[in-house]
Amino acid sequence: MLVAPYIDAFNPPRRTLMGPGPSDVYPEVLAAQSRPTIGHLDPLFVGMMDELKGLIQYAFQTTNEMTLAVSAPGSAGMETCFVNLVEAGEKVIVCRNGVFGERMRQNVERVGAIAVVVDNEWGEAVSPTDVEAALRAHPDAKFLAFVHAETSTGALSDAKALCALAKQYDCLSIVDAVTSLGGVELRVDEWGIDAIYSGSQKCLSCVPGLSPVSFSPAAVEKLKARKTPVQSWFLDQTLVMEYWSGSAATGGKRSYHHTAPVNALYALHESLRLLANEGLEAAWKRHADMHQVLRQGLEGLGLKFVVDEASRLPQLNAVYIPEGIDDGAVRSQLLESYNLEIGAGLGALAGKAWRIGLMGFGARRENVALCLKALDDVLN
Ligand SMILES: *Cc1c(COP(=O)(O)O)cnc(C)c1O
Repeated sequence: MLVAPYIDAFNPPRRTLMGPGPSDVYPEVLAAQSRPTIGHLDPLFVGMMDELKGLIQYAFQTTNEMTLAVSAPGSAGMETCFVNLVEAGEKVIVCRNGVFGERMRQNVERVGAIAVVVDNEWGEAVSPTDVEAALRAHPDAKFLAFVHAETSTGALSDAKALCALAKQYDCLSIVDAVTSLGGVELRVDEWGIDAIYSGSQKCLSCVPGLSPVSFSPAAVEKLKARKTPVQSWFLDQTLVMEYWSGSAATGGKRSYHHTAPVNALYALHESLRLLANEGLEAAWKRHADMHQVLRQGLEGLGLKFVVDEASRLPQLNAVYIPEGIDDGAVRSQLLESYNLEIGAGLGALAGKAWRIGLMGFGARRENVALCLKALDDVLN
């Protein structure tokens, strides 16, 4: 007979998370998540979901009806946009200036569509000039897809300008806002963004595993006009919306699609409630202010930023690892001696840079001070 081994409960240490995500979670969010589980169609739960939808709309600055949290992480939000909106054979202009733009390209190809890639250097913002050239060269393109805040490098692209170009050339825009939401200015309606997705564990400082998503009326039209069914049953927005809002087919009544991650949604409700109470613009300013304090300290340690000041993300600070320093040893020492996690370089920057996150609840003075002190000790 196979005997179950005795295993202790898992008790993680309290770390300070200053990498590319997950970020430090608000204590209120952890508390919210441990409240009693109720049914996913319980009237009280449904009332909470309505508030949650309003909070997601606020965070995105949109009145889009099709706004919800996908029950899976940011990557599923990305996939939701591509599988619902893009059909086989359609052309998509995909901007690639880091890891996540490349993942967008893979999504395009997996739905059988044609990706036209606009490459910019790692560490640089997406170039609107290059994008316009691609839009001009491909008048049959139906979408423009780009990453607003490229977490692999710390570069911020001009979403407002890029979405204006998409409109001008009759394309729908698909925007990755996983790291930007809550950390830098983002205005979905004003900037004319058609499909956007984010993640719970970056500047929202919620637990990982949820992806806020919103589709504009034009994106919903495109979805309704599909000639083929959405390939993914789970991510099919028209089916998911029957749970999030009800549908004409069910007389406006919500129906079961999948069991919502009830407690995780309490957590998202709490993190967005905290963001709304602080105010979006105040949160953006806090990220910018803390970035300035961190920047001064990092430069004082002789560290150089990967991204030019003009397109630098406050919430993701990529700095080059100094000559002769052992990347892995430094990060292990920070983790073991200071309970501090910073991010390794990703893709082209692996082994060459560190990524220091100042996201959500993590964007505060105590974190900046700890990080600077720990790096000073370990490097010197
Ligand atoms: C983290 C991240 C993702 C992926 O989100 P997961 O929650 O890890 O699936 C996508 N895009 C960007 C820009 C990210 O930073």
